[in-house]
Amino acid sequence: MTDRCYSKSIVAHAAARKFMPGGVNSPVRAYKSVGREPITIASASGCHVMDIDGNQYLDYVGSYGPIIVGHAHELVVGAIQHAAQRGTTFGMPTELETQLAQVVVDAVPSVEVVRFVNSGTEAVMSAIRLARGATGRDKVIKCIGGYHGHVDGLLVQAGSGATTLGVPSSPGVPATMAAQTLLVPYNDLDAAKQMLAKHGNDVAAFAIEPIAGNMGCIPPEEGYLAGLRELCDEHSVILIFDEVMTGFRVAYGGAQSLYGITPDITCMGKVVGGGLPCAAYGGREDLMRQIAPDGPVYQAGTLSGNPLAMAAGVAQLEVLRRDGQYEKLERTSAVLADGLCEAASGCGVPVTINRAGSMLTVFFTDKPVRNYDDATACDTDAFARYFGAMLDRGVTLPPSQFEAYFVSLAHDEDAIAQTVAAAREAFALVGA
Ligand SMILES: *Cc1c(COP(=O)(O)O)cnc(C)c1O
Repeated sequence: MTDRCYSKSIVAHAAARKFMPGGVNSPVRAYKSVGREPITIASASGCHVMDIDGNQYLDYVGSYGPIIVGHAHELVVGAIQHAAQRGTTFGMPTELETQLAQVVVDAVPSVEVVRFVNSGTEAVMSAIRLARGATGRDKVIKCIGGYHGHVDGLLVQAGSGATTLGVPSSPGVPATMAAQTLLVPYNDLDAAKQMLAKHGNDVAAFAIEPIAGNMGCIPPEEGYLAGLRELCDEHSVILIFDEVMTGFRVAYGGAQSLYGITPDITCMGKVVGGGLPCAAYGGREDLMRQIAPDGPVYQAGTLSGNPLAMAAGVAQLEVLRRDGQYEKLERTSAVLADGLCEAASGCGVPVTINRAGSMLTVFFTDKPVRNYDDATACDTDAFARYFGAMLDRGVTLPPSQFEAYFVSLAHDEDAIAQTVAAAREAFALVGA
């Protein structure tokens, strides 16, 4: 391990704190739960990020998901430059929007019509409004520890950032909004069945991350999603797959294509925008035509369908459609997971590694992790020590036990070998 100097980042963070809450624009970036000063990024390329002190890191944050072809990919950057030269926003339609819409509809099995928005939060918020508008019902079921953005009614027992900060809910969320949200444990079909038996007639939607990513990576158990699909049909409840993280990530067609389940509405974000602010919701045509101006359910956005974001999305998805890309992500990620597992056991540190394609989480526990309770039972102090040791060895991980690592196409064999070598030292420190 080389001694890294973080002095410029420390000064920059102090300056940032003067003007912004926590010095950041999204809480997890402040590194609070791992007891470190955040590094300030200067640039990124491929699988590396560089901080303003000149330290280079192998990056597994991947901006929490969007960076699947690697940072500053030449085709994505080129597409953005090309678009920017033609103007950055018009408030009038462009052909780029239809291009990306066609790509999304072709890719995602359940999506016939799509609306672009600017963030995953907005996508889920709008999907829920549509579900309520279409059903005339108000209540929404979500999973404990599931994260669907910071929408009022869904910021109830939400994972990752909220979990990390120990505020499962938030002040400012009206009790009446929270009361519209019903909670069930993830991977528990019986609990969903009972909840729907009791409240089914009042429930507009069941919103779920088909592969949970925001309590750490937790894949669905055999039959769980199919069971939910049946239950939703039985009670005329709209099944919303929040694929903001998994869409174009675990497979080109998202988790729904892996498991062969057809949700009514799908939310996308992260990968779909090629690293620019962009998200989408889409689904069955009869539902989506209820959105204004085709229908009465209102939803709008000044920058929605922004030409830079559309261009970046089109370019990134084009790279992902090339032969063998998801196989490559799968191989790289499997080697990484195996390496981390071996490194931990070599140091006598109990871990459970959950992986779905190029998303994975190293849970500091010796037990299986299949829901939020299992995740929160992990040793977060051990995680924090491991996180810091990895940072000092030039590896950026998401600074929370309840997040996934994101592997990109730019991570090659060397990068994985270096990561595993760093992890061996980091786990040795944790075990000591
Ligand atoms: C990231 C994420 C969101 C929120 O997206 P933002 O763009 O951060 O608003 C919603 N749902 C899931 C599953 C996510 O991973």
